[in-house]
Amino acid sequence: MKFINEFRDAELGKSLIARIRQRSTKPARLMEFCGSHTVSIAKSGLRQLLPPNITMLSGPGCPVCVTANADLDKAIALAELPDVIITTFGDMMKVPASRSSLQRVKAEGRDIRIVYSTLDAIEIARSNPKRPVIFIGVGFETTAPTVAASVLQAQQQGINNYYVLSLHKLCPPVVKALLDSVEVKIDGLICPGHVSAIIGSRPYEFIPRDYGIACVISGFEPLDILQCVDMLVAQVESGQPKVEIAYRRGVKPEGNRIALELMDKVFEVCDGNWRGIGVVPGSGLRLRKEYRRYDAEKNFGIKPGRPLEPKGCICGDVLRAVKTPLDCKLFRKVCNPEHPIGPCMVSSEGTCAAYFQYGEGYGR
Ligand code: SF4
Repeated sequence: MKFINEFRDAELGKSLIARIRQRSTKPARLMEFCGSHTVSIAKSGLRQLLPPNITMLSGPGCPVCVTANADLDKAIALAELPDVIITTFGDMMKVPASRSSLQRVKAEGRDIRIVYSTLDAIEIARSNPKRPVIFIGVGFETTAPTVAASVLQAQQQGINNYYVLSLHKLCPPVVKALLDSVEVKIDGLICPGHVSAIIGSRPYEFIPRDYGIACVISGFEPLDILQCVDMLVAQVESGQPKVEIAYRRGVKPEGNRIALELMDKVFEVCDGNWRGIGVVPGSGLRLRKEYRRYDAEKNFGIKPGRPLEPKGCICGDVLRAVKTPLDCKLFRKVCNPEHPIGPCMVSSEGTCAAYFQYGEGYGR
């Protein structure tokens, strides 16, 4: 397959691994921020192919996983309102909130519909003018522009029954929060490819400058990631951290100007609540005052109750990279994709799901 096979070539992979082995003399702890990278690393067995002085850590880059239970409970409370139609991407359905999940409230008779894009949600609103249609907006800078576009579309087309629950998160502020916590020491960051396609490379410049940490933006195929690791190792070995783009076919330094303008027009920055990390200043997005009539939280009186965490689940620690799924007593024994206890086992991008599916640490 054109543009896929080139990035999965075994011989090229072997030569990249040989170069990394040759180049790498110092211990290097590299964190992949993004859940898609976590999956690709596990699926291709890259962790096992790298030299033992390189440690790969998984960060908080799965948007479903980092959505705090306090926010998931808001989605459930909205779903339980009379006449409401909830629209959501499918990966949110099984995520356990404090007392229920969207899947469970759907089974109890609530109207919850899986959509593939916000266009579907708008269409549902148009076809059901007498019922409020709420889109659950979960995701990073990658998703937020499309949600912003849906709000503008609703405004332009006079669709007055469309609402958004904005649980969007911004990546650079949470990286700063993690680095400030000094809980986890890293030497290099595999920066997210999709997010960077929107925001570009410049928002990461504080990381090498203020924290002395190497940064490379990576694509998602095995060779993309090996190339990224090779570039990170080169930076670590030279002691000259900077921001580099390995994913040139998807990312420009300035990002995607149209998407950024859309996002900025509709949303303003607010604090974001991250599972396992807490409230991070400036890491969330809420609808600007001019668009508050589309804001589900502002327009419906909901009282979701006190958030509860699943007993024994260490998703919060996994998302901060201070533990791995192998440290969780429930991993594989009680918690699996058929019976997930925490969100990191539900989402296809979750670290626990990736470890489970691709046998990371099997036999340990
Ligand atoms: Fe939570 Fe399950 Fe992961 Fe353990 S294995 S941290 S219970 S999701």
